[in-house]
Amino acid sequence: MKVKSILRLALVAVLGVFLTACSQTKKDSKSQSTPGKTVSVVATDTIIGDIANNVAKGHAKVHVIVPTGQDPHEYDPLPDDVSKTAKADLVFYNGLNLENAKNAWFTKMQNNIGDSVKKKSFAVSDGVEAIHLEGKGKTNKQDPHAWLDLSNGIIYAKNIAKQLERVDPTHKAAYQNNLKKYVAKLQRLDSQAKSKFNKIPNNQKLIVTSEGCFKYFSKAYNIPSAYIWEINTEVEGSPDQISTLVHRLKKTKVKSLFVESSVSQKPMKTVARDTGIPIHSTLFTDSIAKKGETGDSYYGMMKWNLEKIAEGLSAS
Ligand SMILES: [Zn+2]
Repeated sequence: MKVKSILRLALVAVLGVFLTACSQTKKDSKSQSTPGKTVSVVATDTIIGDIANNVAKGHAKVHVIVPTGQDPHEYDPLPDDVSKTAKADLVFYNGLNLENAKNAWFTKMQNNIGDSVKKKSFAVSDGVEAIHLEGKGKTNKQDPHAWLDLSNGIIYAKNIAKQLERVDPTHKAAYQNNLKKYVAKLQRLDSQAKSKFNKIPNNQKLIVTSEGCFKYFSKAYNIPSAYIWEINTEVEGSPDQISTLVHRLKKTKVKSLFVESSVSQKPMKTVARDTGIPIHSTLFTDSIAKKGETGDSYYGMMKWNLEKIAEGLSAS
């Protein structure tokens, strides 16, 4: 008897949850058909997700696929990512060989979902002047890290705003206003960084990281870069790669090394030991920082990077 009533209670509870879920779905679909809907957006990584949130400011619900702190070059989407991507109004990806190469994870996921998703997928880097990889046999491939130049981040934001306005014209004025303010904020940070970097002696200007992700940065801020491996899709930190960098650094006067938050620190620690040059700081290159920590937005991570790089390269 007792067992039976417990069972019945459980059944009622389950039914209750089911009915609530049903009415919730009904409410959601109703609100989506009315003007001023919330746009459902999927972003492949945390940087794109954050820029989208800054442009949409509450008019879109943004799902980010690759979690904070993980490498967006190589990822296995979860079933939840696949279903959210299939249902989304807009899907934003970086492009430029980050996640959209022929055998890359985003391409595979698109192929699995089918044509419907390709029509609503947009490369936020559209319009960026691409820089190519420099390693042997790789010069026909684009380098993805365009966002590490703030002027490209501005292109990302503009591309995102364009699509949000298209699918949700009711909020066009809001998107344009958010975009204007966000672009001004990024532009201010950009000119502050440029004036800081101008004061660094030329023979100390070299940014050294594990992955060669600073090409766009180097071009924008006139600071050459060196690295252990060129891109995260290849072997990361072989003895050969490490000794090549150590050899190069011994001929320079560079004061600091850097390591990225989304890769292992071990290879760069070996470089630091073998050259006697200290690791100055972690940089955020392929992911923003964890929520609540310094660098937990695209603006925040760029501010952190620019400050730490200026500080590390100026060290005497
Ligand atoms: Zn990368």
